[in-house]
Amino acid sequence: MNNRYKILIIEDEANIRKFVTALLEANDYKVLQADSVDSGIMMFTSYLPDLIILDLGLPDLDGTEFLKTIRKDSLVPVMVLSARTSEQDKVDALDMGANDYVTKPFGSAELLARIRSILRVNRRSAETGRLPGGKFETGELVIDYDSRKVFLDGAEIKFTQTEFNIMAYLSEHFGKVLTYSAIIRDIWGFSDSGSIKKLQVNMANIRKKLNLKPGDNKYISNELGVGYRMHDDNKKGM
Ligand code: CA
Repeated sequence: MNNRYKILIIEDEANIRKFVTALLEANDYKVLQADSVDSGIMMFTSYLPDLIILDLGLPDLDGTEFLKTIRKDSLVPVMVLSARTSEQDKVDALDMGANDYVTKPFGSAELLARIRSILRVNRRSAETGRLPGGKFETGELVIDYDSRKVFLDGAEIKFTQTEFNIMAYLSEHFGKVLTYSAIIRDIWGFSDSGSIKKLQVNMANIRKKLNLKPGDNKYISNELGVGYRMHDDNKKGM
């Protein structure tokens, strides 16, 4: 393998930091370590890692402060690795710009799969960009941004304007969990008490048109109580 990606882990619990470091190094990643927000920012600006694994409960500041600081001028993918399991914690971290959220305790295989998924997505967005005549493709699904058409297995699927806008937004943030409020803000520009319901109705119609049965996570998965993610495999982007 030749994936010398640099990964920065910011984690104050030495056992977890060592475990993740050993796991990543065994998988041929180069690992940088920090144990606080302050040292994390220093490591980030000095070494410009390809991905950051971020704990939230850190000794000097909350991990979300790290996110806020680096998101001012960097799109580097950040995976939050935290013991906080509430939906609100996930929503907050994702809304502040985290790309993914993994709760402790975690499995090694899952962690590695999510890292691969984030790095793959990042490479892909860098390649595809939003070129004129841009098309998005994953599996049998094609989204043509210019003509605003969606094709599944070569056949056009008729979407409403709103449904198309949602598909376009999810695909432009391929691989990332988008919170309900982020999607609502992008599609309708404002939110009211009926917004989440409206989004859910549109998503149900989109899923029906894509022939997805309940519980079927192909192309789009619903992170319950948090948001939606578009991905390339059948299972949650792994
Ligand atoms: Ca901690």
